[in-house]
Amino acid sequence: MAWPLLVIAALLVTVSLLPGSCADQILPVEEKTMEEAREAMVRLLIAYGVRDEKVIAAMRKVKRHNFLPAGYFSRDAYGDHPLPIGHDQTISQPYIVAYMTERIAPRPGEKVLEIGTGSGYQAAVLAELGADVYSIEIVPELASHSIEALAREGYKCTVKCGDGYQGWPEHAPFSMIIVTCAPEELPEKLVEQLADGGRMILPLGAYSQRLVILRKKGERFITEDDLPVRFVPMIKGTK
Ligand code: SAH
Repeated sequence: MAWPLLVIAALLVTVSLLPGSCADQILPVEEKTMEEAREAMVRLLIAYGVRDEKVIAAMRKVKRHNFLPAGYFSRDAYGDHPLPIGHDQTISQPYIVAYMTERIAPRPGEKVLEIGTGSGYQAAVLAELGADVYSIEIVPELASHSIEALAREGYKCTVKCGDGYQGWPEHAPFSMIIVTCAPEELPEKLVEQLADGGRMILPLGAYSQRLVILRKKGERFITEDDLPVRFVPMIKGTK
C-alpha cells in the first residue's frame, strides 16, 4: 500500500520542479533571502555605530538589490561593500550611505540635491526619510536606469542627466547637498546653491580623499574634515 503513495509523492515533487511552476516558487524564496540579508546588513550597520532610528528604518526598508541594473544582480547585494553598476561606476557601500545620511540628517520636506545618482539607492534612502530629492547623474544610461528603478520602487525623486558641477539652479537653494563622487576641489556652484543654514557633505580629493561637511551660516562657511573614504572621481562635464 505504501508504494502507490510513494509514486504519487514522487510525481508531485517532479511536477513542482517543472519550469512553469518553478518561477512562482523561487521568487518568494529569493525575496526572503534578500530580506534576511538586508536584516543582517542592518545589524552590521548598528554594530558599526549607526544610531539614528530613522536612518536605520530607511536602510531596513530600501531594497538595495532592486537598484542593481539588469545584468549586475548579485546574491551579495547586502554585503557591506560597493558593487559594480556598469560604466565603471559603483553603488556605494551601505555603511557609507547610512553614515553620510546620518551626518546630514535630512528632515521631512527638506529639499536635497544629490550629485551622482548612479543606481538610485542613496536617493531612495533620502526619499524614505521624507526629503524632497533632486539628483543629477552624468552617465545617460545610469540616469535612465535610476529614474526607472526609483519609480518601480515607489520613490518620487526628480532625476536629470547632466553635469553635477553646474548644480540645479532652477531648484536652488537646497537645504542639503550630498555628493557621491569625489571632486578634487569644492565645486563653487554647489556652494552657491546651498541655502543659508544648509549643509553639504562630499568626498574631497584625488587619490587620498576625505569626507568634508560644510555648513553655510550667512556669509560664513564652517568646514569639518571627517572620515577617509574612497569614491569614484567626479567627472568634469563638457559645459
Ligand atoms: N549615489 C550612487 C553612487 C553612485 S557612484 C548610488 O547610490 O548608487 C557615483 C556616481 O556619480 C556615478 O554614477 C557617476 O557616473 C556619477 N558622476 C560622476 N561625475 C559626475 C558629475 N560630474 N555629475 C553628475 N554625476 C557624476
